[in-house]
Amino acid sequence: ALLAMTSFIAFVVYLLYRHNIARQFISFEKNVNALLGNTAPITAPKDMFTRITEQIEAMASTSSYAEQQLKETLSKFEALYHSQHLGMILLENNQIVDVNQALLNLLGHQRTQLIDAPLDILLNNKDGTLSDLNAFQQQDEQDVTHFETNLRSVTGQTISCNVEAIRLDNQTSQTVMLAVKDISQQKRQAALIETLSHHDTLSGLLNRPSTTKALNQALTNKKAIITLYIIATRLREIYEIYGHQAYDNAVKHIADALKQQFPQAEIGRLSENEFIVFTDQIEEEQFIPRANTVLKVSASHLAETTADFDIGLNAAMIGPEFAFTHFEPLVHCGFYAIEQQLVPKHNVTIVDEEIVQAANETLTINRNLITALKNEEFTAFFQPIVNATSNQVIGFEALARWHHPDLGMISPGVFIPLAEKHKLIIELDELVLEKACAFLQTIQRYWSKKSQHRLTIHVNLSSPHFGASALINNLQRLIKQYQLSPGQLVLEVTESILLGADQETIERMHALKALGVQLALDDFGTGYSSFSSLCNFPLDIVKLDKSYMSEIETNEKAKTLVRSIINMAQELGMTTVAEGVETASQLRILNVWRVDEIQGFYHFKPMSAEQALNTFGENG
Ligand code: C2E
Ligand code: CA
Ligand code: CA
Repeated sequence: ALLAMTSFIAFVVYLLYRHNIARQFISFEKNVNALLGNTAPITAPKDMFTRITEQIEAMASTSSYAEQQLKETLSKFEALYHSQHLGMILLENNQIVDVNQALLNLLGHQRTQLIDAPLDILLNNKDGTLSDLNAFQQQDEQDVTHFETNLRSVTGQTISCNVEAIRLDNQTSQTVMLAVKDISQQKRQAALIETLSHHDTLSGLLNRPSTTKALNQALTNKKAIITLYIIATRLREIYEIYGHQAYDNAVKHIADALKQQFPQAEIGRLSENEFIVFTDQIEEEQFIPRANTVLKVSASHLAETTADFDIGLNAAMIGPEFAFTHFEPLVHCGFYAIEQQLVPKHNVTIVDEEIVQAANETLTINRNLITALKNEEFTAFFQPIVNATSNQVIGFEALARWHHPDLGMISPGVFIPLAEKHKLIIELDELVLEKACAFLQTIQRYWSKKSQHRLTIHVNLSSPHFGASALINNLQRLIKQYQLSPGQLVLEVTESILLGADQETIERMHALKALGVQLALDDFGTGYSSFSSLCNFPLDIVKLDKSYMSEIETNEKAKTLVRSIINMAQELGMTTVAEGVETASQLRILNVWRVDEIQGFYHFKPMSAEQALNTFGENG
């Protein structure tokens, strides 16, 4: 029992002892853990001695790691301080305490000039760098800040720099380390990129996007702007004949002339051959002579080319009184004004109210043309053609008409050129052709009840339509569908088709004729083709242009010409049609000359299909 008792007491004492030691170990472990922070987590709960050993080992390695880090940081700092590229300035209360060699190299000072000098010596007085720096030092939240500033070199040159300011803790004074990086090269590059992206490289003028932006801005701000719109019509020719060097020179030549005459203005190059000048700095009276000088300069020869070459500058000036609010209509107006000039002038065209109105109208028309085709705003009118001696109607010419929902009836003289420009002319021609064939079928039905002869329908065929691959098939379909007899359909072509015509054109004409279609030469006498074109092409009809009609009563030369055309056409077996006959005396003269057919207001004006049916069909 005694033994048992003794053993029990010994065991309890051991336990107590162990508990006490363990407590001390645990508190030691806690202290070690606190020291280590979270750097060396103790993993599985092992034997306490093993744990402590591990912790001490971890502590030892951490401190050596920290020491290593400290060493590395110091050597990095050394490296930075001796860096060739990064200038360093150590400041105490905004006074320079130390600088590195790189900074001296950058700014050109001697070390002695800078040590103990105020930081101001390196700064531009006007910029707020110093106050920014002070603000940074006053606050506690950040230890590092970045900013851009301009430092001043010893020669007074400004150097753009990126600065990193690092606050160093110091109880007694404000200590800051500035790391300075020269970014002037970068800045120059950025400026160059900026320039390149806003300027046309060849001319040095603003490019299209920048011009658009600047002009739109000026117009929105309702500035009283004078605009000069310029086209160089012969640039392409210069390129083709003299090559790209001469072309480049010509563009520079124009740009220089513009810059010289309008130093205060914004000048842009809108496309290969379009330029624009706009300003609110010059009065109109000064602006016009300067613009005229530019036009004269363009007529002078280019030194680099041996030839005296006119660049063909045309310009239109749009005064501030026209309230344009956008770039597009303004530029369109300039373009329109130049397009309307018949002969290129060496004086600037001054845009007036009438031009502005017409230009705006064409712009609206341009925009509406595509939808108009879809919306079936186009239709055909029909002008009767009569036999010159019997005055009997023998056929009609189909003429396109556009009922614009806002602008009313628009003349083909306006929309045909636009349709050609927008590649819509074939579509438009086909629409008229279809309506014309349908009209002929209907009117012929009534006509046949009272007359033996077959009516003809004349349809205008544009050059692109003449060359279109689908034309022949389409004509075959129409002839079949509307049951047209041979010779009833007359296609009117213009001299432009014959000009420079090759074998292919002649073959195509024969192919058309093989379908039973007649070919008429429209507006004869207005183009460049000669009498010989009458012989060389398989034509059936010649239409004398209406511009001759007023002349045949007064002008002897016109008289001779028209009479010769008629004689020659007759000898070649062609039918002659006189267009634009408005008076009885014109008709009399044409009768004496034995013209076959007459088309003109004297007999009939063009009319709608409905009107024509009323006049000549059912009730006529
Ligand atoms: P064009 O083919 O020479 O058509 C004759 C033009 O003369 C028509 O003008 C007609 O209205 C006009 N006219 C007829 N008699 C007289 C007259 O006694 N006095 C005057 N002052 N004018 C007269 P419109 O309809 O304005 O057509 C103008 C031109 O537009 C046409 O000239 C033709 O070249 C073109 N055009 C018209 N419709 C079409 C078409 O469907 N396709 C194509 N490609 N061109 C068309
Ligand atoms: Ca015609
Ligand atoms: Ca004509």
